Amino acid sequence: MTLNDNCIFCKIIKGEIPSQKVYEDDFMLVFKDIEPKAKVHLLAVPKMHFKLISEAGEEGLEAISHMLSVIPEVAAKNGCTNGYRLVINQGDDAGQTVFHLHIHILGGEELPW
Ligand code: 5GP
Ligand code: ZN
Repeated sequence: MTLNDNCIFCKIIKGEIPSQKVYEDDFMLVFKDIEPKAKVHLLAVPKMHFKLISEAGEEGLEAISHMLSVIPEVAAKNGCTNGYRLVINQGDDAGQTVFHLHIHILGGEELPW
């Protein structure tokens, strides 16, 4: 698993920056977003550094697939009992600010579109 010394999410994965972790396994970490945009706002990140789905490669796509298989239970256990929204910002037009792929998990209330 390749991490990047200059990436804030890699530093969170390595434990160099504190975060409020809610789930962790060999391939992924889920923690609370520092600036929540909904009652529940979690970030799921793979334990390998890449920015875009198009750059994931086979290993990255396997990590994303694993993340999607785990997220429903993590979401439900953290207050998303009536549905939730997953968001993956990709690049500038989407406003991606952290260049380590992450899946936003938003819920805990009815979300505006
Ligand atoms: P993006 O805009 O790249 O899709 O989302 C980046 C997200 O990361 C934002 O929602 C932002 O609040 C969150 N974020 C940025 N830095 C940190 C941090 O140091 N810790 C945590 N927990 N979240 C962060
Ligand atoms: Zn990273």
